[in-house]
Amino acid sequence: MTLAHAARPEVRPSDQPPEGATSADAKPIISFAPKRRGKAPAHLADLDLAGRKKVLKDLGLPAFRADQLSRHYFDHFSVDPNTMTDIPASMRENLVKVLLPELVTEVVVQRADRGMTLKHLWRLFDGAKVESVLMRYPERTTLCVSSQAGCGMACPFCATGQMGLTRNLSTAEIIDQVRQAQVACREGLLEGGPTRLSNIVFMGMGEPLANYKMLVSALHRLIDPSPEGFGMSARNITVSTVGLVPAIKKLAGEGLPVTLAVSLHAPDDDLRDELIPINSRWKVGELLDAAREYFLTNGRRVSIEYALIKDMNDQRYRAQLLADELNKRGHGWAHVNPIPLNPTPGTIWTASTRRAQDAFVKTLRDNGISTSIRDTRGSDIDGACGQLATAVTQGGATTAANEERSEQENR
Ligand code: SF4
Repeated sequence: MTLAHAARPEVRPSDQPPEGATSADAKPIISFAPKRRGKAPAHLADLDLAGRKKVLKDLGLPAFRADQLSRHYFDHFSVDPNTMTDIPASMRENLVKVLLPELVTEVVVQRADRGMTLKHLWRLFDGAKVESVLMRYPERTTLCVSSQAGCGMACPFCATGQMGLTRNLSTAEIIDQVRQAQVACREGLLEGGPTRLSNIVFMGMGEPLANYKMLVSALHRLIDPSPEGFGMSARNITVSTVGLVPAIKKLAGEGLPVTLAVSLHAPDDDLRDELIPINSRWKVGELLDAAREYFLTNGRRVSIEYALIKDMNDQRYRAQLLADELNKRGHGWAHVNPIPLNPTPGTIWTASTRRAQDAFVKTLRDNGISTSIRDTRGSDIDGACGQLATAVTQGGATTAANEERSEQENR
């Protein structure tokens, strides 16, 4: 560290045990191997339309009913046989049983941000729990979905990371979080009345690119028009990653113009090795090269997510280093979203001061980097995606009032 860097003492991720760790000497352990092998029941949303027709045909049921059932699911967000009046009553129960088993059951729902945010905890068929968060903004309504139960990436600031990877979600388990959000929007469960779900971000529990096959088929269900899928705009879908470089390259070749968000959080390997353990496998340089390639292939500007953590990664020299790393790979290909971390009392993982945030943003902008501080609702998700599941597992859910207080403190 040079003298210029020494004005504020730096804290390191290793200065305390990881968030939510059960022992003082806990160390992050990366894992790609799920603890559970169980497979969710097969569901219409796991398959494309041809696959759904084949299932019905193999069971001796009329294949064309797959089309009708798909429209009920993707157009009307319905799994209730009573609403399916275009299908003979005698057939409905059986079709629903075969192609629309219940996968995602509500355990807890919390409201925050004066009713503009709904946070759901869901129970899956085997008791595993995942979260999704629905957020209304003036110009869009966004759902943050989970792609895995738990997570194997072991980021020390994240409660989910300390749970380890329970298992990958099936495509339909991801998609049914979306269907339920579509219902919540339509029925006006968010403050402000009925609305339309416009955006999806894969920033809930899990590393989406570690569940690659299910992710890609979920993207198809989101983007493909009915009766294949919901027909959402690919431009409004964001896949976030901590940096699985080979999977980023593979995703670039899928021809799905979704936005890539890289959870960078540090521009130097020295800090990032501790902050994001997968950095020990793929370094900052390789990650940014892959992100730039993604931009060149897909034409979609990459989002660089950067949780501003007090005295850890929020120094002006790190902002300069980040700007240099981005600019040396070209201009206009990335947009930086610094996010003041949601404060957790008593830990070293706390939000940067307002002054540090402003200086960080100014340094990036002075270097021509497009930058916007992200809404703290986003930081709730990015930095604390496993907190609700942990709290409920331990017997006491966090309250909306607590969340609102955190947000006030963040301002
Ligand atoms: S921050 Fe994201 S990638 Fe890291 S452990 Fe948490 S859920 Fe996994």
